[in-house]
Amino acid sequence: PKYQSVALIVGVTGIVGNSLAEILPLSDTPGGPWKVYGVARRPRPQWNADHPIEYIQCDVSDPDDTLIKLGEVKDVTHLFYVTWANRSTESENCEINGKMFKNVLDVVVKNSPSLQHVSLQTGRKHYLGPFELFGKVAHDPPFHEGLPRLDVPNFYYTQEDILFSTVEQNEKLTWSVHRPGTIFGFSPYSLMNIIGTLCVYATICKHEGVPFKFPGTKEAWERYSDCSDADLIAEQHIWAAVDPYAKNEAFNISNGDVFKWKHFWKVLAEQFEVEDGGFDEGAGKMSMVEMMKDKAGVWDEIVREKGLAVTKLDEVAVWWFVDVILGSECMLDTMNKSKEHGFLGFRNTKSSLISWIDKMKGYKIVP
Ligand code: NAD
Repeated sequence: PKYQSVALIVGVTGIVGNSLAEILPLSDTPGGPWKVYGVARRPRPQWNADHPIEYIQCDVSDPDDTLIKLGEVKDVTHLFYVTWANRSTESENCEINGKMFKNVLDVVVKNSPSLQHVSLQTGRKHYLGPFELFGKVAHDPPFHEGLPRLDVPNFYYTQEDILFSTVEQNEKLTWSVHRPGTIFGFSPYSLMNIIGTLCVYATICKHEGVPFKFPGTKEAWERYSDCSDADLIAEQHIWAAVDPYAKNEAFNISNGDVFKWKHFWKVLAEQFEVEDGGFDEGAGKMSMVEMMKDKAGVWDEIVREKGLAVTKLDEVAVWWFVDVILGSECMLDTMNKSKEHGFLGFRNTKSSLISWIDKMKGYKIVP
């Protein structure tokens, strides 16, 4: 056959989906040559259109649409599940995210007899607890994969249980679970994109002639943080998909270094040529959601004036997520298990930051 492996990426316009869509088709990617299908709910955006994949527009929360669109695909060998839906309570999150994952598995397992491996992306909230319980139930960091589940509802646990029961019923299937922290990557459609959102914030400050102020807490400003580069996460997904020693395990995935927001704030300010407003001890924590609630028109004006790709502010900026991430001290994980199993990938986070800013500019999402 022309292809050795066939990938189905669910969430292909998302922050890791877009990286998988770029990396899987490359000629030197392990397990290749790969044929790649990519699923997302909306029509294909221009910034995703360069990747040589078959794009399938499908709403996986709808079982009928999933059956119609994904039932036609018969040759999938590897499923990469990198999507989610965000509801207002964790019990609703468990319900909708369990349903979406199950809709996909039911159809793909039945229609693709060559399916070998399912790679599920969850995240560090496995150890922290859901957003609604942030700061209340977390394990003591650094987090390792051997820690027990927290005794609270978590849609990651729901998804894992669906994965485990699917694999139990299909002996030839293997699985892997990937747990990133805050992701640095590129996707104007992501439900959580911190760098994209901070680029938009810096652009708005520059346009309005005001200093670029750090909206978070002192702890987030001056203590150690870490993050997970989207391309690195994609590399770990692919490693787990092809390496026998990675099968049937959950892995943390983070860059392998630490940084401080007070240093990265300077980098962001320089990249957008805006005055660095730093952290104002007296002002304390600011709410981005509050500060930015009337800026949709300002963003439209910037898009017009600078000739940017046409976007809406509520697509490219996720203010609540910045409020959460910069609202408290980052809790770190350890990469020991992943390294012990043979994945030695890492990123220099400062280079990662600059490369994602460059990509935002390159696709004219920001000036
Ligand atoms: P994302 O929000 O960046 O992208 C989601 C993708 O799924 C998009 O392509 C979107 O179009 C698509 N999609 C959404 N609903 C759909 C539907 N009903 N049908 C079809 N496609 C649909 O995704 P992400 O951030 O990579 O999230 C994947 C997992 O990673 C989640 O469990 C998330 O909690 C976790 N995670 C994310 C971050 C982060 O910083 N973004 C950090 C840690 C963990």
